[in-house]
Amino acid sequence: MRPASLAAAAIAASLLGANAAAFAAAPAVDWKTQEAEILARHRALIQIDSSSPPGNETKVDDYLKRVFEVEGIAVKTFALQPARANLVARLKGNGKKRPLLLMAHTDVVGVQREKWPVDPFAAVVKDGYIWGRGARDDKDKLAANLMVMLLAKRMGTALDRDLIFLAESGEEADPAGVGIAYMVNNHFDEIDAEFALNEGGSATIQDGRVTRVNIQTTEKAPRRFRLVATGTSGHGSVPRLDNPLTHLSAAVEKIGNWVTPMRLNDTTRAYFERLAAISPPENAARYRALLGPQPPAEIQAYLAKNEPERYSMLRTSVVPTMMKAGVGPNVIPSVAEATFDVRALPDEDIPKLFASIDKLIADPQVKLEPITTNLRPVAAASKLDTEMYRALVKVSEAMYPGVTVLPTMATGATDMAQLRAKGVQSYGIGAASTESDTINYGAHSDVERTSEQSLYGIVEFTWRAAMEVAAADK
Ligand SMILES: [Zn+2]
Repeated sequence: MRPASLAAAAIAASLLGANAAAFAAAPAVDWKTQEAEILARHRALIQIDSSSPPGNETKVDDYLKRVFEVEGIAVKTFALQPARANLVARLKGNGKKRPLLLMAHTDVVGVQREKWPVDPFAAVVKDGYIWGRGARDDKDKLAANLMVMLLAKRMGTALDRDLIFLAESGEEADPAGVGIAYMVNNHFDEIDAEFALNEGGSATIQDGRVTRVNIQTTEKAPRRFRLVATGTSGHGSVPRLDNPLTHLSAAVEKIGNWVTPMRLNDTTRAYFERLAAISPPENAARYRALLGPQPPAEIQAYLAKNEPERYSMLRTSVVPTMMKAGVGPNVIPSVAEATFDVRALPDEDIPKLFASIDKLIADPQVKLEPITTNLRPVAAASKLDTEMYRALVKVSEAMYPGVTVLPTMATGATDMAQLRAKGVQSYGIGAASTESDTINYGAHSDVERTSEQSLYGIVEFTWRAAMEVAAADK
C-alpha cells in the first residue's frame, strides 16, 4: 500500500493550493487511489472474529498495533481483562486547540451462521458490497478512523489539535466494564478531548443519492426499576383483598398507560423543524404542531400509533417489559414483580420521576425498587453551535449537495454517554445506506453488509470532518 499512498500524498500536496479556497485547512486526498487500502483494512478487521461475548478484542488491537507501528505511530493498550484490551494512538498537534477523539468499538455481536448466505467472517466482496459481521457496526468506522490517522501521518499534516484514536472493547456486551467505562474511569487523560466522533449517526440514500445525514448529538438514558407487590399467600379457593397479582396488575396498567410529559430539547426541536421542511404537507403539519407552545394530544397519540420511535423522542418513556408471579394455579403467591424499562430524556430528574410513579400508583402494597446495576450516566446533549457540529454540516453539504442535516436524539444508548458526562462534545455519525439495506442488512441483523461506496464515503467524511477542526490554520 505504501507506493499508492505516497503517490496520493504527492498529488495531495500539488492539489493543496487549488483546493485551499474550498477547504482552507484540509489537505486534499485523491480518494480513488485510497480505495484498495480502505477495502483491505475493512476486510482484515471483519476477518478477525471479535464477537462478544467473549469479544477477544485484543486480537483486533494486535492487528491495529502492527499497522500503526509500521507507519511509525506509537500505540498504548489498556486492559481490565487481557483478552479485552482497548487501544489508543495519538498524533500530536501544536496544542493550539484541545484534542479530537476518533472512537470506534472493536467487538461485534454474535452470528447464527446458518442464516448467512456467506461466511460471516470472510468479508466477502460481492455485488458491490462487503458482507460480514461488523461491516456496518462498527468496523467501517474503525477502518475510517484508522485511515484518518494513517493519512494524516503520511501526509505530514500539521495539526492544531491532537488526533486521538480509540479502539474500545466491550461495546456490545460488557458486564465487567472492560471498555468505555474502564477508559473513562481509569485512563481518561489518554482520551480527554474537546470533541469526539463515534458511531450512532446515519445517512440515507434515496434514488441513488444521499439525501439525509443524521448526526447524533444526544441520547436517552436507560434506567430500570421493579415494582414489587406483596400480600398474604394462601389457597386459591379463598379470595383475598391483598392478592399481589391484582395489586401489581393495576399498577402496571396505570404506569404502562401513563402519558409522561412531552418536552423538546435543542436537538429534538431542530430535528422536527428540519424534518417538517422535507416532509409531505400532512406529516409536516404534524411535526410543526409539536413545536408550538401547546402540542396537541391527538398529534402525540398519532405518533404513538404510527411513528413510535419519534413519539419516544418527545418524552421519557416508561415501559413494562417483564412480569414474574405465581407458583401454581391454586396458590395465591405472596409476591408479584414487574420490571420496567425507562428511557429518560437527557435532563430527566430520575429520583423525581420515580417519586411521581410512586404517587401515581398510590398503593402501599406496591413498592418501587430502582435497579442500579450497569447504569450509563445521564449527560447533557452535545451542542449544535460548536466548531465540530458546524464542520459536520459543512462536510455533509459539500459531499452531498442538497442534503438535509438533522441533529438526532437516539432512543437507544451508546458509549458517548460516558464521554458526554465528562464534558466531551460527542457526535455520532454513520455510513450512508438505503432504507431497505438498513432494514434487511443492518447492524445486528442476520446478514450484515455495507456497500463499497458507503465505506469509501464514511472514510472521506470522517477525514474531511476531522481535518476541518484539526488541521492547522495556515
Ligand atoms: Zn456499534
